[in-house]
Amino acid sequence: MQSTKFQKRLFGTNGVRGIVGKDLTPERVLTIGQALGTMRKGCIAVGRDTRTSGETLVKAVKSGLLASGCNVVDCGILPTPALQYLIKEQFDGGAMITASHNPPEYNGVKIIEADGTEMGDEETLKLEQLIFEPSFSPESWKCTGHESNAPYLIRKYIQAIVHQFPDKVGSEISVVVDPGSGPACLTTPQILTDMGCRVLSINGIMDGTFPGRLPEPSSDGLKELAELVVSSGAAFGVAHDGDADRAVFIDEKGRFVEENREFALIAQHICHRKKGTLVTPVSTSLIVEIVVKNEGCTITYTPVGSIYVARTMRSLLENGNEVVFGGEGNGGLIFPDHQFCRDGGMTAAMMVFILASTGKKLSTLLSALPNRSMIKDKISTSCGTQVLEFLKKAYSHDSLDLTDGVKILRKNSWALVRASGTEPIIRIIIDGDTHDHAQVFYNELMDHISKITDR
Ligand code: MG
Repeated sequence: MQSTKFQKRLFGTNGVRGIVGKDLTPERVLTIGQALGTMRKGCIAVGRDTRTSGETLVKAVKSGLLASGCNVVDCGILPTPALQYLIKEQFDGGAMITASHNPPEYNGVKIIEADGTEMGDEETLKLEQLIFEPSFSPESWKCTGHESNAPYLIRKYIQAIVHQFPDKVGSEISVVVDPGSGPACLTTPQILTDMGCRVLSINGIMDGTFPGRLPEPSSDGLKELAELVVSSGAAFGVAHDGDADRAVFIDEKGRFVEENREFALIAQHICHRKKGTLVTPVSTSLIVEIVVKNEGCTITYTPVGSIYVARTMRSLLENGNEVVFGGEGNGGLIFPDHQFCRDGGMTAAMMVFILASTGKKLSTLLSALPNRSMIKDKISTSCGTQVLEFLKKAYSHDSLDLTDGVKILRKNSWALVRASGTEPIIRIIIDGDTHDHAQVFYNELMDHISKITDR
């Protein structure tokens, strides 16, 4: 699935990212706008997260699009999945100015296709060719595009989520929302309020300096949220990353919910009601496969990256398969009845629905899931490809999955080793039924790897 012929130079699995003024300049973003406007015609939607550099960069991308003859609708500040939803409904493509979970000094550009999915590898390579070997010329004075502003469209996204659930289903539920000063300030509190919930917010005022916590919703950064959940007696807390395509949770006892367990809980609920396949990358914990199979559903694995999950879900559906759910073990979940991209607002709403329909506490639901233990590590090495080839031979008697890197499959555990495409490192994940089993597998793997690296 991943292109082997050409390597992308600028775009990673989640668009272009960089430190503003150093790796990412307005000139570069202008060129991206011109290249996109050359490839895609019609009416293009743009949006941004709350970063301080967003205003400058959104003007640059709009200028490039307008100069190449596209009409532009500026949807203002909104979550990435909100822009993706609006594009799917009524635009010919789009560009989101965001650096997702990266620190405040970063920003980036994510290109969205007319169907609301992120641009795939093949089209991104064409876009990069236009960026690095620009051959476009601006349209004449009679053919430049027209810009309009439509910040009110965000309401359509909010309503689309609310209408997925029974009216006022959350009327018995209190939730604390932590949008992290990002664009979900405009959406998740409103979605949950419209579902009937009592909503409290923390870090609920948009601020591109992120004064309350960093855009990555790590357990360390969510201590204040956890305290507020406990002191207010809320059913749960929910926090988003900087562009709100991910959602992570705090249970009613103030404990951070590991994201694979969150995924498993929601998967269990969906697979209990609807039969089909769930799509996820090879890096997701076995906990998801276990609960999905217990509910009589199947699982399909993809390379790491939400775009591969989304596109696999679509192609399975187009080939007549029933696809019930998808996502990654980082709180980025895809609900195919809603749209084919990760959606943090939808994930928060689904958690309300699960608690309302089961009548159980979040901690009770989580404690019924199987236990798993994950070890993650990364090693600096310039010989990533050799490490992978070596492991393929060393573990040739084990069951291997080569979808992305080398995944060694055993009865109750697996190990995944992947070489980074952009940095001289290899990433290692071990998933075991107990911490001891995961540790033994990790030690064994590291013995092998140390034979050909200097670690
Ligand atoms: Mg994100």
